[in-house]
Amino acid sequence: MKEKKCPACEKGRLVPVEDIISQIEGYVFVEKGERCTNCGEEFINENEGQKMINLAKKLGVWGEPLKLYRKLSKSARGTVLRIPSDIEKNLGIKGGEEVAIFKVGRRIIIEVV
Ligand SMILES: [Zn+2]
Repeated sequence: MKEKKCPACEKGRLVPVEDIISQIEGYVFVEKGERCTNCGEEFINENEGQKMINLAKKLGVWGEPLKLYRKLSKSARGTVLRIPSDIEKNLGIKGGEEVAIFKVGRRIIIEVV
């Protein structure tokens, strides 16, 4: 296999990975691509990138402004995140749904199940 040099730092080499995380408007996509061994820069395969865009379009999230900023608040029982009403409407959340919570680095992903 031919080694590819990283175009970002020009020191590392690119190794194939299958766990590149991209986020589009709050949705998280896991893609295949390459990652630099030195600087950690990630390069998504062109095909994979297109797949992700198509999927995002299907989900209706491509180009939608659904990344919103909120402050956490503290209650007696812990930290509370209020779900913005736009997102509630978009996902049809009524309250009382079960959610799965994932931690990916500094991101918290909430999936309505
Ligand atoms: Zn690099």
